Amino acid sequence: MRSRRQLRLPFGTIVATASTRVALSFDDGPDERITPDLLAVLAEHGVSATFFVLMSKVRRDPDLLRTVAEAGHEISLHGPDHRRITELSRRDATLGLSRAADELAAISGQTIRWYRPPYGALTARAFVAVRQSGLTPVLWSATTWDWKDVTHAQRIDKARSGAQPGSILLAHDGLLDTLDGVTGEPEVRCDRPKLIDEVLGGLREQGTGVGTVGAAIEEGDAVRSLRFLRPRRPSPWGR
Ligand SMILES: [Zn+2]
Repeated sequence: MRSRRQLRLPFGTIVATASTRVALSFDDGPDERITPDLLAVLAEHGVSATFFVLMSKVRRDPDLLRTVAEAGHEISLHGPDHRRITELSRRDATLGLSRAADELAAISGQTIRWYRPPYGALTARAFVAVRQSGLTPVLWSATTWDWKDVTHAQRIDKARSGAQPGSILLAHDGLLDTLDGVTGEPEVRCDRPKLIDEVLGGLREQGTGVGTVGAAIEEGDAVRSLRFLRPRRPSPWGR
């Protein structure tokens, strides 16, 4: 009954969980301009989050990455830099992710389990590369719109409507530049610490717990999708 057993195998990209809590995640850091202020907000709320970091940022400020890890947050990989993994051969993608995860584990002192592809871009070939590198791809099911040129009120509405028990909420703690392999990134004004403070305040009022992706998956099963995305920029899926 090989096919039935295969059906039961955990397979696909994690997009949400069956947990009662919201998993809070940050991409594109660590960044001295944003991360320390966000860490202060998370500490005030007593909340742990998952940080999908770029090695192109970590290498510039490994002490900041250690500060994030030592504050009890979960360290995960967003990539060697912010270029699309879908543009690499499977071999190059596997090698690049393996090396980045090893380096990140050595600096953070944590086992690196999750990988979030830049722009959410993931083909079947890239998926295989991620799994071969020992990582599991994680996307998101709710966003703060902190990467989009909208008002603060619209961001709050978007986050609150999307952040339900089991959702994985996307936010950012880094600004991308050429050292991350990105040019022409539009500058978006967003008071991220204020945004996260208000989102966490709203979730606390409604009695919804918030934590890391890993903690949510331990509490409830991972919800997976086999749908692959190759969004063009600008992407409706954030960055
Ligand atoms: Zn990103």
